[in-house]
Parts: sequence; structure tokens; C-alpha cells
Amino acid sequence: MKIRPYIIDIKYEITKYRRILHQNPQTAFKESFASDFIADKLRKWGIAFERNIGKTGIVATIKGKKSDSNKSIGIRADIDALDILEEDNKKWVSNIKGKMHGCGHDGHSAALLGAAKYLKENNNFNGTVNLIFQPAEENGQGAKAMIDDGILKRFPCDFIYAMHNWPYCPLGYFEINEKESMAAVDHFKVIIDGKGGHASKPHTTIDPIIISSQIINSLQTIISRETDPFTPAVLSVTNINGGTGAFNVIPSQTSFSGTVRSYDKNLKRHIEKRIREISYEIANAHKAIATCTYETRTQPTKNHKEHAQICINIAKEMVGDTMVSKDPTPSMGGEDFGVFLEHIPGAYIKIGQAVDDDPNHRCSKGLHNAGYDFNDDLLPITIEYWARLVEHLLPLKD
Ligand SMILES: [Zn+2]
Ligand SMILES: [Zn+2]
Repeated sequence: MKIRPYIIDIKYEITKYRRILHQNPQTAFKESFASDFIADKLRKWGIAFERNIGKTGIVATIKGKKSDSNKSIGIRADIDALDILEEDNKKWVSNIKGKMHGCGHDGHSAALLGAAKYLKENNNFNGTVNLIFQPAEENGQGAKAMIDDGILKRFPCDFIYAMHNWPYCPLGYFEINEKESMAAVDHFKVIIDGKGGHASKPHTTIDPIIISSQIINSLQTIISRETDPFTPAVLSVTNINGGTGAFNVIPSQTSFSGTVRSYDKNLKRHIEKRIREISYEIANAHKAIATCTYETRTQPTKNHKEHAQICINIAKEMVGDTMVSKDPTPSMGGEDFGVFLEHIPGAYIKIGQAVDDDPNHRCSKGLHNAGYDFNDDLLPITIEYWARLVEHLLPLKD
């Protein structure tokens, strides 16, 4: 691993920042602590920035030694946390009960701060770098909010990049997809209106619990019986609500909700259509009424091949050929960076952070797990990667 001495030297400082961010997690558009913290560091380092882009978002701008190329690139880090009750397995555990940096966005933000510090003091490039601290990645609304606030016009970028820590691979292992990387995320909810009554007289009721059970079972056949196994899709029901808590009352209404993940637009439309049809028809067969809502949260994140290749080359120079996969299986997880990639060419990459010989280590635990933690050893690797990417794309000598 080739990491320049300056970046090794700031690892301790950036690790400190990462852990402070970890202790103060806030969810979508409420990330005031992270936003203030990042602004404070940028101010101290004399880096120009603007706030309130997508509510809590920040864009910092660093000019190269030369800026006659008129070229600019964007690097994006997400800053938001999740509604998770964190396992108390580290000194820097969350100060806010029920909120947790369970996806490592504290690490992404700290690494981008590290890159800001490095690039400000070592601006060996020709052009402009826009460092984008984006809110609300987890609910899929942050990138859109920044675009709605004019980021594309106010901070034009020729190319844009992002990274995500990946606890499913060893530390420093790069996974870079040439095309699809992260799936489209949809959300659906079904409400069943029946007729409540005494549990001892079910024949006088229209029991929405039985009807919901039948619908939920049948929804599973959309993927298993109607979908080409070579076209990836997931349908998960993740919430069921119904009943008052009383053991002897059949409720009048139940609801359930979940998520659909996919890459193919036609398949996505088919799944939506079938969720509606199956819900309406089964409810109808049992004299109940189903109401369905279905909404798209994020589109798939699809890399631009040429830019994925640039990232692959840089990663190989850094960590060697055997530590870079250019054709990993795309994830069915969601990521709203795809919204930026619809406007600007670029690439989204994953960098491993698992502790190789210890699957139970907190940095080897999966994203969104209550015991997970960002691996601080990934900070210098990420900063080095950003520095190399900037110097490659905005070279001093043409
Ligand atoms: Zn994440
Ligand atoms: Zn996440």
C-alpha cells in the first residue's frame, strides 16, 4: 500500500474527528452537528465553502496551483446517520440514544475532511475540486435536495465520484463496478380495510389479518415465479401492523409495508403492477378493500464505464492488481449517489474494511448492524485515493 507521508501524519487527527462525528449521529436533514463540525474545520483551514445546500449540506471548493484548465471535479461524502440503538462496544459510542452512524458515513465525512486538508496544503493540480458533504443519503432524498438547491449550476463539475466503506471485503480491497453498482430502491405500503368484531364470532367479521397473511405470502411469488432468475430483484415485507393488543378482538384494519430492489425499469414496473393486482384481488375475494401506495426512493447507481476504469487504474497503482475487483456482484442495497450520476459522468466505488482474521470484529460487521463501526485504518487509504484521483484528472502538466 503506497500512502504518502503527509496522509500518514494526519491519520491521528482525522481519526479523532471521525470518532467525534460517530458520537454525534443525526438522521436525514437534521445533521446540524456534522454540518457545524465540518464548517468549523474548513474555516480553520482557510477553505472556501457554502452551507445550506440541501438544508444541512456543504460544498467546499479548493483551487489548484494552476486553474487555467477550467476543469472541475466533485467528490461526495454522505454525512447522515441511522435510527439504530448502538451496541456499547467502543469508547466513542453514540451520545444520542437510538441514533447511530451504522453505515460509516462518519468515516466518509472524516476522509473527505482529510482530503480537504491535504489538497488545500498540497494543491498539486490544475483546476477546481468541489468537496460535497451530502445530507440524507439513507432516505434517498439528500442528493436530490442538493440538486434542487442548484448545486449543479453553482458548483459545476465535469466528473463526480464517491466511495462507500464495504465491511464484506478485507481492508483496502477495492470493488469497482463498470456499470451497475447499487440498486433502485422503492417503498410500498398496503392497507387492508375489513370489518372488526369479537374474536369468538369471526363469521360476523371480515378479518384483515388473515387477508394480509395471504397477500404477503402471494407477494413472494412475484420474484420466485414471475421474474427471470438472471434479472436481479428483491421484495421484502418489513412491517406488519394490526390489532389493538387485545387477544379477543379482530381488528377492522391492518397494514404492511416493505421495499422492492431492482435494476431493470420494466421489471420494476411489473413488480409494482403485480403488488397492486395481488393486493386488490385477494382483498376483493374476501370482501375487504386494499389500498396500495408505491413510490420510488432512488434510481439505480450506474457507473460510467470510462470513469470506473480510471478508478480501477488508480486503485491498482495503490494496492496492486490482486486487491482490485473490476466486476464484483452489484449490491441490492440502495444509494442516492446515482442521482448525481444521472447528470454528471463519474463512478461510485466500494473499499473493503473488514478485519481479515476476525469476522466478529466491529469493523467486519455488516452495514446497519448495531455492533458495526467504520474502520479508521480505511481513512488514510481513502484520502490517498482521493488525492490520486484529483492529481490524475486535473494534472499540472498536460
Ligand atoms: Zn451508507
Ligand atoms: Zn446505509
